[in-house]
Amino acid sequence: MIVDDQQYDVIIIGTGAGGGTLVRKLAPTGKKILILERGEFLAKESSELEDIEVFKKEQYHAPDQWYDTNGEPFSPQTNYSVGGNTKVYSGALLRFRERDFEEVQHQNGVSPAWPLRYQDFEPYYSEAEQLYQVHGKAGDDPTEPPHSQDFPFPEVAHEPHVQQVCDILSKQGLNPAYLPLGLGDQGRTDSEDTGTTPATNQGDVTLKTGAKVVSLHTNPSGSEVKAVQAEIGGQAYLFLGHIVVLACGAINSAALLLRSQNEKHPNGLANGSGLVGRNLMKQQITVMVQLSASTLPGSYQRTAYVNDFYWGDDNFDYPMGHIQNGGGILQDVIFAESPPVFSGLAKVLPGFGLRQLATRSISWWLQTEDLPDPNNRVRLAGEKLHLDYEPNNFEAHDRLVYRWIDVLKAVESAAPSAFNRGTYPRSTMPISVVAHQCGTCRFGEDAATSVLDLHCRTHEIDNLYVVDSSFFPSNSSISPGLTVIANALRVGDHLVQRLG
Ligand SMILES: Cc1cc2nc3c(=O)[nH]c(=O)nc-3n(C[C@H](O)[C@H](O)[C@H](O)COP(=O)(O)OP(=O)(O)OC[C@H]3O[C@@H](n4cnc5c(N)ncnc54)[C@H](O)[C@@H]3O)c2cc1C
Repeated sequence: MIVDDQQYDVIIIGTGAGGGTLVRKLAPTGKKILILERGEFLAKESSELEDIEVFKKEQYHAPDQWYDTNGEPFSPQTNYSVGGNTKVYSGALLRFRERDFEEVQHQNGVSPAWPLRYQDFEPYYSEAEQLYQVHGKAGDDPTEPPHSQDFPFPEVAHEPHVQQVCDILSKQGLNPAYLPLGLGDQGRTDSEDTGTTPATNQGDVTLKTGAKVVSLHTNPSGSEVKAVQAEIGGQAYLFLGHIVVLACGAINSAALLLRSQNEKHPNGLANGSGLVGRNLMKQQITVMVQLSASTLPGSYQRTAYVNDFYWGDDNFDYPMGHIQNGGGILQDVIFAESPPVFSGLAKVLPGFGLRQLATRSISWWLQTEDLPDPNNRVRLAGEKLHLDYEPNNFEAHDRLVYRWIDVLKAVESAAPSAFNRGTYPRSTMPISVVAHQCGTCRFGEDAATSVLDLHCRTHEIDNLYVVDSSFFPSNSSISPGLTVIANALRVGDHLVQRLG
């Protein structure tokens, strides 16, 4: 084992939305910071997700094999590179709604309250929108929470076919809104260009890539993490730091804590509550296709969302979820997970190739909050990582799907020459789609019922923090990215103070 001779003020593990944003916040302190990232830099051309070949090669699946509840292996759709999943995400950066922070009764159970409220996150949402250059327009969506600052950039215009749908939706009394999008000169803003790159240029920050952290070692009493063990180029290294921050994503951070068990922490580090890895959530997501009578470009931004059914509708008193259009299907990574959608399309339009099928379709993503269930969890069996996950809240999700089919039918009745009628191939995301994973180390005030305190510091280990999507005590139907970023900025404020 090689022991690095440096002593770092902070070691951050992972460079995704959480880790990449945090290092950007901490770099100006001038403190000595080490970032350990298991992936490498993603070549620029590879992040242009325009080629359907990418899907076939499954380039954005991690090299890992994980196992489902029944022990069936699968290849998780998660990206290991500098920037983490923000290198492959769609850059739809929305705030959670005010009620998402409160206790909400769903059809299948309760979504528990967060220990902090929307007002506590609001300044950090504004800071996050500035940092990630979010383009948007407030005021169209009645569920939009109050903003202390306007979006820093104006909204992105809809592709004409999508504009046509939105116009019809408005006439029907719905409230289609412009999707807030993080966009810079290079395309979608991500936590490499916005986070790690400016941080390494500015501060005393060292980034090591190809550095997979395998274990955290504590002092003999178990009160502090003393060293971080990583594999780099087949060699074991030990790095020493005063403060250690996990930002490996909700599944991998929990797995790392569980793997780092020792005499003082026999069930995994900081796991006196038994909650590390539990309450895994990932939303229920269905992609649905609307067939256009004319050809659309293969690549265009997602720009529209509809939250009219977010908290329910006249026939259903419980939350249903969020809908957004999918952008050019050829650039939509998760679409690769949906062969049933393509086979559905092939039946409707026989003789068309994949590319033609894709360019005759508008995709719609339907997302419904799943509820925390301690039996849904990350579990280790020896070296194997299992995701025990039973979807819940599916009646609400089904309602959303059927409600949206009704809406699309009405759109087609209003413009019969623009859309093919009556078929809506769709597919619900399987276990391997862990894009919206969260919840495995929930934060809270009580050490018996949460893993992290309000600063996302583990209750049990004074110098250990978790700053990725693990901290969510409940989910929402909104995509998680902006909330992970805002929280990293919030925890960053606390760490700046702590570092003096
Ligand atoms: C295809 C796709 C589309 C998405 N679209 C959107 C969207 O439009 N809007 C939105 O809000 N969200 C979207 N998301 C979700 C969003 O990307 C995530 O919520 C966000 O990136 C989570 O941030 P994180 O810091 O928790 O983890 P990640 O971004 O996953 O980062 C974790 C990092 O840790 C590294 N790592 C893991 N294990 C180790 C280890 N042992 N040692 C060292 N490094 C390690 C990984 O390589 C990675 O860099 C999308 C996700 C995907 C996959």
